[in-house]
This record gives sequence, C-alpha cells and structure tokens, in this order.
Amino acid sequence: MITRKLFLRFPKCETEKPIVYHLVKDYNLIINIFRAKVTANEEGYLVLDVTGREEDIDRGMDFVRSFQVTIDPVNKGVRWDPQRCTHCGNCISHCPTHALHIVDPASREIGFQEELCIECLNCLENCPFGACSSAF
Ligand code: SF4
Ligand code: SF4
Repeated sequence: MITRKLFLRFPKCETEKPIVYHLVKDYNLIINIFRAKVTANEEGYLVLDVTGREEDIDRGMDFVRSFQVTIDPVNKGVRWDPQRCTHCGNCISHCPTHALHIVDPASREIGFQEELCIECLNCLENCPFGACSSAF
C-alpha cells in the first residue's frame, strides 16, 4: 500500500460527477480529502491523499483523467515561496504537522516539506510576508 498526495483541478463540466465515489468503490482506494472547492459552473479543486495498491492508484488516476480532470502531483493547494520567506519563524508554531520547520538550527533557516501539509491554511494567516499562498 502506498499513499500519494494529489491536487486535482476539475473543468466546469465535470464538477458534479461522483468521481471520488468511484475511486473508492471501483478502485479500492482510501481517500482522505484535505480541502475542496466545488462551485456550480466554476472550475473545481480538490486536494487529497489516495492510499491503495500502486496499480489501483494508477488505474484510478487513468479513470480520473478520462473526465478531463488535471492531476498535479507536484503543485499542491498550499504553496510556499522561498523567495518571499524571510525565515522569521512566525509560522512554525502554527503549523500542526511541521510541514514548515526549521531546517538548520544554527541559521534558523525555514523549509517546507510539502507531503506533510494538511492544507489547514494556518500559515497563510500567520505569515507576515505572504510567503504562503493558496492555489484556490
Ligand atoms: S497549510 Fe497548515 S499544515 Fe500546511 S504548511 Fe500551512 S500551517 Fe502547515
Ligand atoms: S512566517 Fe512566512 S516569512 Fe516567516 S518563516 Fe514562515 S513562511 Fe517564512
């Protein structure tokens, strides 16, 4: 069993289809939805973890793509911009999973471990320099 964190972007025409239901039922996947934005007649967004056998995940993602849904395994719903980060450390105590963490105790340099992010958005509210942002 493996887990992959994915960012799905749905075109307007596909937002009302029960795609996640079929991933669970037909592809034996465990779905953990972190964050979603689905509004009628607008593009939809979903950030989720999928857990299952690698071949089931691959088949499930082929099914998802058949609906013109874009799957982005790299860029997630929350993004951290190292160019904007001043390493002030304000976000550290607000990040429940330590996705934002101190990389080097000597220099207090901050790093972002994307796969640990649960998309709580605390860092957006607590970064004075706008280094953290949401894709939707
Ligand atoms: S969204 Fe939440 S979990 Fe993700 S980096 Fe920001 S504070 Fe941490
Ligand atoms: S609060 Fe913002 S600027 Fe400060 S360390 Fe965190 S991400 Fe960087």
